Amino acid sequence: MSLVLALDQGTTSSRALLFDVAGGIVGMAQREYPQHYPEPGWVEQDPRDIWQSQLGVAREVMATNGIDPEQIAAIGIANQRETTLLWDRRTGEPLHNAIVWQDRRTGAACDTLVERGEGPRIRSRTGLEIDAYFSATKLAWLLDHVPGSRERAQRGEIAFGTVDAWLLWNLTAGRVHATDPSNASRTMLFDLHKCAWDDALLELFQIPRELLPDLRPSHGDFGHTTLFGGEIPIRGVLGDQQAALLGQGCCRAGMVKCTYGTGCFLLMHTGAMPVESRHRLLTTIAWQRAGRVDYALEGSVFSAGAIIQWLRDGLGIIQTAADVEGLAGSVADTGGVMLVPAFTGLGAPHWNPHARAAIVQMTRGTTKAHIARAALEAIAQQVADVVEAMGADIHAAGGSGEGGGFHAGGLPAFELWVDGGAAANDLLLQIQADVLGVPVFRHAHAEATAAGARAIALAQPTTNIRRAEARVFHPQIDAARRQSARERWQRTLKEHAC
Ligand code: ADP
Repeated sequence: MSLVLALDQGTTSSRALLFDVAGGIVGMAQREYPQHYPEPGWVEQDPRDIWQSQLGVAREVMATNGIDPEQIAAIGIANQRETTLLWDRRTGEPLHNAIVWQDRRTGAACDTLVERGEGPRIRSRTGLEIDAYFSATKLAWLLDHVPGSRERAQRGEIAFGTVDAWLLWNLTAGRVHATDPSNASRTMLFDLHKCAWDDALLELFQIPRELLPDLRPSHGDFGHTTLFGGEIPIRGVLGDQQAALLGQGCCRAGMVKCTYGTGCFLLMHTGAMPVESRHRLLTTIAWQRAGRVDYALEGSVFSAGAIIQWLRDGLGIIQTAADVEGLAGSVADTGGVMLVPAFTGLGAPHWNPHARAAIVQMTRGTTKAHIARAALEAIAQQVADVVEAMGADIHAAGGSGEGGGFHAGGLPAFELWVDGGAAANDLLLQIQADVLGVPVFRHAHAEATAAGARAIALAQPTTNIRRAEARVFHPQIDAARRQSARERWQRTLKEHAC
């Protein structure tokens, strides 16, 4: 009874990891599954593919490592967030493909809500900006487009869930229809302060209450599964970004995690206090356990690793993403060149969908190495923009609520913990530490999301955080240089992208 089975249900693949008592990884299996793009801007997944791929990798990791169900103390789940599913409670059959978080089909419906002035009410209750990203308008779309579904919903015949609820339903053969607050807080139907479904929002989106999953603390009893032979309890559920926050050990107010993938996902733990953002960040629930709710501020950068992909595929100045480090490292600075990475607009805290990318301040001496370095600086500066906004929000809210610990100047006294594909780049992380002026920590193993699923199942958040084994990047430039680089970046953004 010493292992934990972590299920990491991601947007492009399902993964299953076995962890030992000390948090070491015993085994891992991964399987990609199909994505569907029925119309421009639409993204769907077949719920059966989500479930079958997840079940498949769980069975595979147990079989290849010769593990019996009796050896597994608990299952923890981390899942892609916001993705919206409807199924028949009697047969368990999906009523439609899942509408994935990236899907933009409800953009116009969101514009209408904004025009009607619903923004402030929704923001203050849910902590979210009105956007097609979140589940509420996706669920309303399903109820409008699947014939008879609204009536069937009112009769209690069908169930709504985000991916966590769908996995729980299938793992428990329909005995458990539940979700946790970290997932519920991404639906735009959930009151962040009361930690409950919100009747006024259900009314606004015309969502029958009968559809909704039970709310349970992120760590606790989610039933058990018998699908692997013996009985294995399911003890924890978290949305993937919150799982990465926990898996990185960011359990104290002011600690920030950043996942560097295609974009960057940042979360700052803000303690037991929901901090209302004045800088267009999102307020979200980190997790609920042991009778306490922890909150986080969240901000996303659209283009990060995507800039490196563009250097590779668009400009052709590198062969592989990893080559960028050597190329950028071959020059001491960018020679004044700035890259404005607004390829798909700018995310938090700028929120400008219309901005477009630019490379500025080039001279006859500019080389591809300067451009590569400017790309890394652009990633780091965008992350700094979000971190600074987090700091300013926290400062405006009067500290952490847990004894302070924040600088007066707005930037919190924190550490940045990093994961994701682009976090393999040492030079990027050194530039990040320089730009932020705080140490950047990279874990010895890169499985932050699965580590969070393990931690929430055990309610032992920090046991697998081996601080001593993390690689630390300390700032190496002084405050004056940092400040002038920040100002130059902000000026350039203002001139070219805002
Ligand atoms: P996602 O989950 O968004 O697919 P990953 O965490 O797998 O992303 O990271 C892949 C991204 O990281 C790609 O955009 C790629 O360009 C970038 N990347 C990978 N290795 C490096 C590197 N050494 N330096 C900079 N960027 C990198």
